[in-house]
Formats: sequence, C-alpha cells, structure tokens
Amino acid sequence: MKILFASPEAVPYAKTGGLADVSGALPRALAQMGHEVRLLLPKYRAIDEKRFPAVRTGMVLKVPISQKVIPCEVYALDPSPRLRVLLLRQDSYYDREQLYGTPSGDFEDNAERFIFFSRAVVEAALELNPDILHCNDWQTGLIPVYLKTLYRWSPALARAASVFTIHNIGYQGLFWHYDMHLTNLGWDLFTPRALEYYGKLNLLKGGIVFSDAVTTVSRKYMEEVQTPEYGAGLDGVLRDRKADLYGILNGVDYEEWSPAKDRFIKEKYDSSDLSGKKACKADLQQEFYLKVDPQIPLIGMISRLTDQKGFDILAPIIEPLLDLGVQFILLGTGEEEYHLLFQKIGQKYPHRAGIRIAFDNTLAHKIEAGADMFLMPSLYEPCGLNQIYSLKYGTVPVVRATGGLDDTIQDYNPLSGEGTGFKFKEYSSSSLLEAVKRALQVYPNRTAWEKLMIRGMAEDFSWAHSAGEYIRVYEKTLAKKRTAKTEP
Ligand code: ADP
Repeated sequence: MKILFASPEAVPYAKTGGLADVSGALPRALAQMGHEVRLLLPKYRAIDEKRFPAVRTGMVLKVPISQKVIPCEVYALDPSPRLRVLLLRQDSYYDREQLYGTPSGDFEDNAERFIFFSRAVVEAALELNPDILHCNDWQTGLIPVYLKTLYRWSPALARAASVFTIHNIGYQGLFWHYDMHLTNLGWDLFTPRALEYYGKLNLLKGGIVFSDAVTTVSRKYMEEVQTPEYGAGLDGVLRDRKADLYGILNGVDYEEWSPAKDRFIKEKYDSSDLSGKKACKADLQQEFYLKVDPQIPLIGMISRLTDQKGFDILAPIIEPLLDLGVQFILLGTGEEEYHLLFQKIGQKYPHRAGIRIAFDNTLAHKIEAGADMFLMPSLYEPCGLNQIYSLKYGTVPVVRATGGLDDTIQDYNPLSGEGTGFKFKEYSSSSLLEAVKRALQVYPNRTAWEKLMIRGMAEDFSWAHSAGEYIRVYEKTLAKKRTAKTEP
C-alpha cells in the first residue's frame, strides 16, 4: 500500500509533544511491514540540517493561497528503504525559531501557514499517487476537505482515501472567518455542517467531516469525545461520524524508551536485575540536589504545564503531598502561572522538590528511569505516552482514569496483587491525594512493590500491534470507498 502520512511534527526532526512521537514511529512501523510510506513535514528551521542533510528532489509545487501562488520546494531524506521523509520548504512560513508560536502566543499567520501546508500536501499527492492520505490534527484538517472538493476529479487521487487522526481535540485550529479566503474554498462550505464553528473557521472540524475515516488515539478517548464533557464542542460532529470512527491506542518506540537500551541514563537495567534503577534514582536525586536516599519515595512528572494535565487539581495539594515524606520532581513548560507556582515550591522545599522549567529530552529519560512513581492526573488524555514509558522503566504510574490512561493502566488490587498502577476517577485534589497515599502504602513493602514494577515492565505497547490496526482501518476504508464509487 502507498501511504502518505502528513503531520506538522515528527521525531526526530521537530517535536513539541506526543504527536511527534507518533508521527516518527508509526510511519516507520508501517514501512517495516512492507508498505511504501512518505512522511510529509514542513521544513522548519528546527530541523537540524547537519544531522538530517535533506536533498532537493527537484519537485517544486505551486500552491494557491487566496490570490497568490506560492512555491514550495520539496526536499527528501531516506531513513529506511521504504520510508521517505519529504520536507516542504517555504521559508516565509517555516524558517522561524519555534514551530507554532512564542510563549506569549501563537503566530498570527498560523491559519495561512497550515492551510498552505495542507494544500501543498495535496499538490504533492498528485505526483505521489498514494492509496491513503493519513492526516494528523488540525494543521492537516483541510487535506480531506480539498480531496472531496477542489481535487475531487483528479485522476491521480480518485482512488485514494483519507484517514484523519485526532491526537487532541482541545486544539482545533480555530480562526476568524476572514481567513476563509486563504483556503480558496467556496463560501458554501462555511456552514455548520462543514467548516464553520460558531462564526469561525474550524480546521479540525474540516478533517472530521470530510475524511473517509476518523481515528483517535485510544479506545476510551474515542468514546469520550462523543460526549459533551470531552468533545470540546465537536461531540455532535463526531457522533455523526460514528460509523467511521476508530480508537487505536498509540504504540511506543521501545528503541528510544526502554531502560535496557537507554543511552541517556546512568545505568541500564531490565526486569531480571533492577540494580541499575537504584543507580538511576541516586543520579536523579543528585541532579536535582535532593537527598540521595533509596528509601524516600520519588514521584516524577514530565508534562506540559496546562490545566489539561491536571495541574489545577495538583496545585492546591502540592504541599500536603510533599508532607507525606516524598520527593517530587517536575520537568515541564507551559502556562506562566504554573511556572511561578512550581518555582516557588522548588525554592520553599529545595531538598524535597526538584523543579525544572524546560523542555529537556535527556532529563525526561533520567526521570523515567530514576523515579519510583510517575504522576499523570490529567483532566483528559487522548492516549498519553509517559505512563506507557513509565511501565517499561518500572516507574509505577499514578493516573486519572481517563482516555488512554484508563486503557493502559490497571488499578492495583492489594488483595489479589494484580494491576500495574494506581488510578483515580473523580477529577479532584482529594482523589488525587488519595491515590498517591494508596501507592505510598504499598511502596514500603518491597516484595509487593517490585512485583508491581515487574508486571508493568512486562507490558508490551510496541507499534507493531497498533500499526496493524491502522492497516486494517486503511483497508476497510479503501474497500468502502471503492464499493461506494462503483455503486450506481
Ligand atoms: P502531549 O502530547 O499531550 O503533551 P503525551 O504524553 O502524549 O502528551 O506526550 C508528551 C511527550 O512529550 C512525551 O514524549 C514526553 O516525554 C515529552 N515531553 C513533554 N514535556 C517535556 C519536557 N518538558 N521535556 C522533555 N520532554 C517532554
């Protein structure tokens, strides 16, 4: 199968969050299964030219944006025989320090930057003849729209189907209606049944309405987004697509995230010998100037500092939590109010709390390896990757039962000894604290705790399984589309 995978970010080229992990690993897994995959990304300044020397393909696309036609030069990298990474270059849009904006706000021309990207992908598809165009998040939302409208009669794309994956419905690419002219689509599409959302242009909604199939990144999240509580205003639109809606749990890349292979950590280890984890814990305690003591339970967090990740329920109980006799380490960036709050906590409790306001991949690996528990009290979590990494590192997850957190973690049962972590349901500070207390009750019982760690380490969320599920969705969607076309 020929698969064109369009994403605004992918590891190891450019990353701001979990979408990049998925867009790096899934195309590779699909290529390993024998499919021919093209991964299309904007050519950002952040993509290190020395590490990834891309070459010109000679392909120059002419991309209409409103009254203008803007050129887009296509560069290529070949990381594996069946996987080609194509970088779409237009420096006026992508040669900037950040991907989407500065800490003080998104770039003002983000609508234009990603309308351009979506249209350029479709122009590239005319030459690449894919069977599947797999689009990801709002930045690619117009691709399915173009396929069903302006490019409907293009012979090269007539047999292609589009699959649209929602990685986080909280980010919809919502822009003022005046940006509609940049799309070159007719105003007849600016209706509540298509691209309009309460007077605004909604690019994510375009992807949901016009794609041939929609997927979300866990089964539970697929159910949740169809409810008003979690649908962020698009639950009705998703219920309308129920027949073509799938929940496929993200896999993780164990080449990158496994304590037996991790090149960033103090000492490698696996479930047959956990002594390396002790060395990693001591190293982490030192790194954050905490007391080096194997007995003190160490709780880690790596996260965007936003309400979605549960910081509004964590903030009121952070001091009572530290009073439970734990060490707490937080690595993250995000909203200013949380930067200030947690920096203050770090200053007030220098030997119990280690706070690093930064995006630091090496440190993320060290925290996964060195912590005893990993906290994810998310309000919602489409899939979540860190809890899955944590399982592999024997770092017991304490999570709220939502989305992918609920699908991947089984609550510990002290009677049967089953489970892989600690879950709480109600989104409240007291439930969160209760779950941490439950974990701390088990922690001193080394035999029970190690069994819990080892059970988590044995779990397997590798991409091979999830990639197979995507292939089944691609095949089903293509078959459905092709039979629909041949019907009178
Ligand atoms: P989301 O995409 O919602 O931010 P995920 O759990 O799906 O959350 O993925 C987050 C990814 O980004 C993980 O790989 C995590 O390790 C990484 N990450 C998040 N914040 C940081 C940070 N401050 N430093 C390093 N890595 C981070």
